[in-house]
Amino acid sequence: MEREEVFNFAAGPSVLPRPALERAAAEMLNYNGSGMSVMEMSHRSAFFQEIFDSTKAKLRAALSVPDTHEILFLQGGASLQFSMVPMNLMEGGTADYAVTGNFSNIAMKEAKKYGTVHVAASSQDDNYSYIPQQQALELSADAKYFYYCANNTIYGTAWNYVPQTRAPLVCDMSSEILSHPVDVSLYGLILAGAQKNMAPAGVTVVIMDKSLAGREAPYTPLMMSYKTMIEKDSMYNTPPCWCIYMLGLTLDWLQTQGGVAGMEAIKHEKAALIYDIIDNSRLYKPCAQRQFRSDMNVTFRTADPDMDAQFAKQAQAKGLMNLKGHRSVGGLRASLYNAQPMEGVQALAKFMKEFEVAHHV
Ligand SMILES: *Cc1c(COP(=O)(O)O)cnc(C)c1O
Repeated sequence: MEREEVFNFAAGPSVLPRPALERAAAEMLNYNGSGMSVMEMSHRSAFFQEIFDSTKAKLRAALSVPDTHEILFLQGGASLQFSMVPMNLMEGGTADYAVTGNFSNIAMKEAKKYGTVHVAASSQDDNYSYIPQQQALELSADAKYFYYCANNTIYGTAWNYVPQTRAPLVCDMSSEILSHPVDVSLYGLILAGAQKNMAPAGVTVVIMDKSLAGREAPYTPLMMSYKTMIEKDSMYNTPPCWCIYMLGLTLDWLQTQGGVAGMEAIKHEKAALIYDIIDNSRLYKPCAQRQFRSDMNVTFRTADPDMDAQFAKQAQAKGLMNLKGHRSVGGLRASLYNAQPMEGVQALAKFMKEFEVAHHV
């Protein structure tokens, strides 16, 4: 069946590169002469081991991950990392958390079960519309790690700097990983659910400094110990095979687009197409403060919630899907991840102008 031409602006699960989907379709019934689908094969088979090893190598290359850091393919989503991080790294002591949105707030609350949480910064006072700057961070002297979320998917803000801390940095990069180069050596641990910018839901990427492994609390479930997963190369049990395969296909596509540097070169241009309309509009209002705006998740509102709903509905009728804001904040949100083609962004820009002409008061 032909796929209808729509542009998907969902925040996650979200659009995947078309060439990756096409290759998965072509290889669906018979992967590489195996006579089987990747969905059917043993995770211990030579066919899958090759997929696993090459995907890991491609991710290592794409993000220039140094040898000091291990790459893990885990399950349980980014949300399980909210528990795994403190269980494995807090050692019953103190951890600093920067609360700049919904997900870091959940992570902070979860960590309280495992030690002393110190909120080093928060932007809750202004509805998470900004990112606290370095000089405003209240760092504790004995923190085991400093936790933050680089791109706030729901509020549409992004950290415009890498915090400088004595404690290792732990960063949730779910909604921005692979959209720009990152100096991985600056991080103790990077976590990212795949379904925003990498692959289908079901695999969570963790990139961690190996020297941080082995500090887990004694009650840590076997499956939630980074040490177990490092020792077993993410295959203590059956890994999310299909998602790892799809991640490999996304990484192949990424390479044809100039890798993470290629993505960085166009992400701002894509986002600017929409932000320029918002900034020059009498109808649309941005949700995030200008210098902290995310290139990945563009959040805005119209005059009122009814008109927001109308906007999303009329956009959908034109094939511009999933523009409704997150249920907790309302408004509108356009997610412009790597796989969102420029034509999709241009189509949205055109629709926004038409809608404004038809509705502005
Ligand atoms: C979506 C998202 C999460 C939650 O991911 P799950 O895989 O659903 O647990 C966490 N953090 C960020 C930044 C996200 O965008």
